[in-house]
Amino acid sequence: MRVGIIGWRGMVGSVLMQRMHEEHDFAGIDAVFFSTSQAGEIGPDIGAKPAVLLDAHDIKALSGMDAILTCQGGDYTSKVHPELRAAGWDGYWIDAASALRMEPDSTIVLDPVNSDVIAKALQTGKRDFIGGNCTVSLMMMGLAGLFKEDMIEWVSSMTYQAASGSGARAMRELISQMGAVHTCVADLLTDKDSSIVAVDDGVSAMLRSSDLPVTECGAALAGSLIPWIDSDLGNGQSREEWKAQSETNKILDRDTSSIIPVDGLCVRIGAMRSHSQALTIKLRKEVPLNEIESIVAAGNEWVELVPNQRDASIDQLSPAAVSGSLKIPVGRLRKMSFGPEYISAFTVGDQLLWGAAEPLRRMLQLLKSYSV
Ligand code: NAP
Repeated sequence: MRVGIIGWRGMVGSVLMQRMHEEHDFAGIDAVFFSTSQAGEIGPDIGAKPAVLLDAHDIKALSGMDAILTCQGGDYTSKVHPELRAAGWDGYWIDAASALRMEPDSTIVLDPVNSDVIAKALQTGKRDFIGGNCTVSLMMMGLAGLFKEDMIEWVSSMTYQAASGSGARAMRELISQMGAVHTCVADLLTDKDSSIVAVDDGVSAMLRSSDLPVTECGAALAGSLIPWIDSDLGNGQSREEWKAQSETNKILDRDTSSIIPVDGLCVRIGAMRSHSQALTIKLRKEVPLNEIESIVAAGNEWVELVPNQRDASIDQLSPAAVSGSLKIPVGRLRKMSFGPEYISAFTVGDQLLWGAAEPLRRMLQLLKSYSV
């Protein structure tokens, strides 16, 4: 299978390449690397003789691929995908960008949750397979067991999303903000007799100052938060919040008469790489807590049930504990005071892995076995 890979040096693409190496995914495919800006230069080392990068806008070269895997971004997808299809290309398109996600011919891929939907799409000749929104994918991985049993009436998801969701430059800026905040009160911190009010005044002044770098994040993120992610839909909801319900139901292939409502507020916080979410879940019926825990734990092999205890929650349920791993810890499970069908949960996941790169590389593996 000839696979064209685009966007491999970006942030999602770099994590994808790392995972593909780890899982020996390059075996059995003929990987061809493209670039929008470096055509003619030498491509990445994947063990074979490094080849020259092709132009990612060359429709003829792209048309020679059986599959295209892109992490390049929505602008690239919106330009190249229609041109390729118009030129008659009927290969498989696997994409990290959101541009095609809600198109009727697209399938959102998250195989531990919707392998049946993916299989049906392949059997019916679908060709566009798109990775889901990172927060949605992570929530669905954590609650996979409850979704499988169709136990959820609705979910409210309040998110704590990391800087990595805004790209590599936002991550760098977060650290620069932390540095600026520390530098402005460094002398006061070394003086153990200094007043905490003076330290706090210095920090607050820096967070509001034009000296704080905010080009990428748009506002102070270190020592603060940003309660809006993505564009304003004009109805009080952010686009990120809108994705929760629309993508969840598309991933599950539920029709309009059986929509599971999913809504909440999406908030950017000063974590580097992993997203967290506090969930309020209304179950369709009352179920004992120990049964709910067993169902959640059995959702898939990556879910790790964290006992709803202080020490375990602090140790295991944080971005610091999870970043760089495929684990999806789910904890803080308890019945809420609203009634016996209401439960809380807290889950964390690395949004560059299950939230971005992992479903794409797994889709490519599925295609490999499908096309054999
Ligand atoms: P990114 O880091 O900005 O990379 C995108 C492209 O920028 C690269 O493929 C590269 O293309 C080009 N580029 C230019 N200068 C670069 C440099 N100095 N280093 C690396 N690349 C450079 O974008 P991304 O965050 O990976 O996101 C890609 C897509 O995935 C987007 O559609 C995004 O919405 C989606 N997505 C992102 C996340 C996330 O957490 N960030 C999660 C899920 C989905 P050339 O080699 O062609 O120049």
